[in-house]
Amino acid sequence: MPVGQKLAMERRARLAAERLLAQKQADLDEAQALLSRYAREFSAEIKQTRAKVESYRHENARVKTDLRDATQKAQAVERRLWHAIASMDDGFVIYDQDDKLIMANETFHSYFRGLATIKPGMSIHEVVRLAASVGIIRLGGETPEKWQNEMLLRRSDPQAARIISLRNGRYIRVIDRRCPSGDLVSLFIDITDSVQAEHTLKDAQKQAETASRAKSAFLANMSHELRTPMNGVVGMADLLRETELSEEQRVFVDTIRGSGQALLTIINDVLDYSKIDADQLELRSDPFDLEQCIHDVLRLLQPAARKKGLALLVDYDLFLPTQFLGDTLRIRQIFTNLIGNAVKFTETGHIFVQIVGSTDTDIGTAHIHASVQDTGIGIPPDQLSRIFARFHQVETANNRGFEGTGLGLAITKRLVEQMQGEIWVDSEVGQGANFGIQIELPLDPSADMTPPQLPQEIGHVLVVDDHATNRALLEKRLSRLGANATGCSYNEEAMPHAGNADLILAHHEMPDSDSFALANTLREQGLRVPILVFASAIDLMSERAETAELRGRLGDPFTDRELLQKLTNSNTGLVQTRQNKKLRVLAADDNKTNRLVLEKMLQSEDIELTLVTNGLEAVKAYEQLKPDVILMDISMPEMDGREATERIRAMEDASANPTRIIALTAHAADDIKESLIASGLDDILTKPLNKGLLIATLDNLRQSAEEPHRHQASG
Ligand code: ADP
Repeated sequence: MPVGQKLAMERRARLAAERLLAQKQADLDEAQALLSRYAREFSAEIKQTRAKVESYRHENARVKTDLRDATQKAQAVERRLWHAIASMDDGFVIYDQDDKLIMANETFHSYFRGLATIKPGMSIHEVVRLAASVGIIRLGGETPEKWQNEMLLRRSDPQAARIISLRNGRYIRVIDRRCPSGDLVSLFIDITDSVQAEHTLKDAQKQAETASRAKSAFLANMSHELRTPMNGVVGMADLLRETELSEEQRVFVDTIRGSGQALLTIINDVLDYSKIDADQLELRSDPFDLEQCIHDVLRLLQPAARKKGLALLVDYDLFLPTQFLGDTLRIRQIFTNLIGNAVKFTETGHIFVQIVGSTDTDIGTAHIHASVQDTGIGIPPDQLSRIFARFHQVETANNRGFEGTGLGLAITKRLVEQMQGEIWVDSEVGQGANFGIQIELPLDPSADMTPPQLPQEIGHVLVVDDHATNRALLEKRLSRLGANATGCSYNEEAMPHAGNADLILAHHEMPDSDSFALANTLREQGLRVPILVFASAIDLMSERAETAELRGRLGDPFTDRELLQKLTNSNTGLVQTRQNKKLRVLAADDNKTNRLVLEKMLQSEDIELTLVTNGLEAVKAYEQLKPDVILMDISMPEMDGREATERIRAMEDASANPTRIIALTAHAADDIKESLIASGLDDILTKPLNKGLLIATLDNLRQSAEEPHRHQASG
């Protein structure tokens, strides 16, 4: 091969080699550049990782510190809690959900007084068994097993608190709670001090109750002892007044009687007030007739009012029922105080008792508003607010002459308040006083609510009364009862109307005359119209009533029921006041004076009276006489009035009307009424006997004796 060709080949080879080299060099450079980029990136990553590791390390260290702090704190709290539990005066125990003891404090251990060791892990059964067996518990008659079972009930009924009595005299109240985790936590609280205080309190209460019972018994006995001789004093003075007396003798007798009555009021007031004050007064809830109750009070006060020439007027809301449930004796007492005061503090004019009310048939009650208005001396404004305080009496020139205890209104207020009612007074000096009360009473569910009606044959009634207000009230009532009523005063006015009347209702006492004269005049004119007379003192009418052609007599004021009873009881046409058949009354009383009082009080009445001296004699006399009425003293030797009544009730013929037996007692009626009625007595009259009330009661009984199978108790 030519040299030139060879050289060219070599140059080409060299050039190719150089190109390859350059290529390799470029690849190498590129690889190196990549490598160095990787190296840079890797070192950045390493840096980051290092930083992270560093931060994790820091965090770890902080968490560790926090954990240590928290653990320390938890330990401190646990220590503190445990110290607190350990130093508690109350015992403390925790059982786990399997009833194994977790821990108990020192106080709990101390209950076992070294007689048994209580350790964690013990079951509640073991702990309770140990407590029962080592003699630290006063079992109070229970067997240890029963006590243990009782204590183990805590597991299923942890809410119930139990009291453990320890032999060392301490009392422990156990309070258990089940935690959400299932642990049972028990706290044992020492309640010895409060138990002892309770015992002391109970002892003191017992002593106070005994003392209070003794005081009440003493007061009741004293009241009985004082009232019994007063029956003789007041009753005899009453009778003495009706005999022929010189002026001077009459003053003496009136003084004896007045002082006797005043003494009785004081005895009753003091007894009542001490009872109310000792919160011993319990109100009864018996069926009673409010209208009748007010009329009974008015009738009792009628003699005093009559003596002063005062008219006693009553307006009982025509639309208000009369039958309620309540304490009739206490309601009567409220009205006796208010109306009694009105009579006492009024010299001329009238006393007007008004009862209005509304019923709520849904709840079966009536809202009753009663007012007692008088036309008396009145009460000064500055005294009005104090009038209901005990022993308070108005001290003015007008007022000084009146007797009294100053307890009546205090008692009345307390009674009204005990009935959840209210009492108030308005007054103007010289014009009179107006006392109001407001009470709510349940309606008697057994009462007949149909309004009463006069018999059909009585279409027109003539009311003869000189007192215009009374006349107007009566006319209003008679219209409500279905009659056409005309009112007029006596004298010539009465006569023109008499011919048209089916009935004349006449007030007995007229200014210059009386109902007998009215009857005679009418009869002389050939008028046979029935005349029914009402009088404030029916007992004073008795002597001449027999001769006058009167259809009957009524006390004034009288209720609709009493009027209707009078009209429906007798035959139509004229009948005499007196029934042909005498009322046969058997009276038993061991006290000679009382028997004498009874005999004298009833001597002018149309009554066949048999007197005996004890219960045994009363039973014997009952067998022989079968009387209509028995007046039965309660405290008698040989056989007392209760036993005699029980025996008589046992002997009674079930098909006949039961004999009416009225208790005569010097005890305060409300104390014993319930027990007397349980013994079979129908009603009570308290001694000293009031002649008017006795006669009115017997008159009512005479009425009901004629009405077959009617057994009605008067309020
Ligand atoms: P007592 O009537 O026994 O004195 P009360 O408590 O019943 O006691 O009455 C207290 C006083 O209130 C009476 O003494 C009298 O001064 C006055 N008082 C009560 N009712 C009336 C009345 N209707 N009119 C005037 N004063 C009255």
